[in-house]
Amino acid sequence: MIVVMEPKATEAQIQKVANYLEGHGFKINLNRGEVLTVIAAIGDKRMVSTSVINSFEGVHEVKLIQEPYKLAGRGAHPEDTVITFENGVKIGGSEKPVLMVGPCSVEKEFEGLLEVAVAAKEMGCEFLRGGAFKPRTSPYDFQGLEEKGLQYLHEASKRTGLLVVTEVMDTIDIPLLNKYADVIQVGARNMQNFKLLKALGNIKKPVMIKRGPSANIREFLLAAEYVIFNGNPNVILCERGIRTFDHDFTRNTLDLAAVPILRKYSHLPVVVDPSHGTGKRYLIEPMGKAALVAGAHGLMYEVHHDPDHASSDGAQSLSIPQFKEITKRINKLIGRIDYDNKATERQQKIAKEN
Ligand code: PEP
Ligand code: MN
Repeated sequence: MIVVMEPKATEAQIQKVANYLEGHGFKINLNRGEVLTVIAAIGDKRMVSTSVINSFEGVHEVKLIQEPYKLAGRGAHPEDTVITFENGVKIGGSEKPVLMVGPCSVEKEFEGLLEVAVAAKEMGCEFLRGGAFKPRTSPYDFQGLEEKGLQYLHEASKRTGLLVVTEVMDTIDIPLLNKYADVIQVGARNMQNFKLLKALGNIKKPVMIKRGPSANIREFLLAAEYVIFNGNPNVILCERGIRTFDHDFTRNTLDLAAVPILRKYSHLPVVVDPSHGTGKRYLIEPMGKAALVAGAHGLMYEVHHDPDHASSDGAQSLSIPQFKEITKRINKLIGRIDYDNKATERQQKIAKEN
């Protein structure tokens, strides 16, 4: 259930409700918005009477949440989540969209990665992406440089100031990733690795979850729910395409309707990956732009210093000159979209009702 407090509710009134619910076995998640404080309580609702809670001073409304994704959904958290990084970069809400670019895999020549990172910085991108632990369909394919790859990303980040996004595949590597990454990516294949999601709930570092190739939106949001429920509210959703029947033309079908749907039902930042979403480099620009117009908070796309010789995903990676051309136009589009600071419609509605 969620308890919406009056805008003028005092700290003592909020705590009284929280303590009462905790005393009845509920797990509490407090969301202090600019206007309202909302207490999300997860537990057995038969243990309490909603009318008793309603009678507490400072309580505006008690609602039962029907959505299965209680914490990832807007019910308990009407305002958009905005994640702020140490260098001031923000993602989510009405912030300007961010760009996450880099090679599919971090490869053994550091210079190639650095070349991409320098170009990314020059084009105003915020994040450098690259896999050090690679989830490959075949065990004979390049599996990643592991810690060495993380060190390369760290070094490239130190030299350019870019933030690092990189994938975790196993709970055992979380401490290592926590040390080197600014955003820990859960790959599409691990979207329902519940043990991994639970473990990522125990850290504070932002986690970006990629949509599983066969996952529906409900399952996608429930993956985010696992991380938030276990203690980490810093979750980013990434649409990266779902299983296609159009293999002649694309690797996946990029579900762009997912962007406004996720933004309507969830407060979490949404990123779109048109590289994996299509598998074709010529589709990165049109689908990336479409994603931004649909409301994405960021794009992630692959760039390689020598795509023809990439260890993975060369066909969907841009060369550095292509990257610069395309990113120039994407930046222009970002500059034209009106990312004002208005609260979400829902938030405004609640504020008006009070
Ligand atoms: C990646 O981003 O490198 C990756 C492997 O993507 P996905 O998990 O979406 O296939
Ligand atoms: Mn890739």
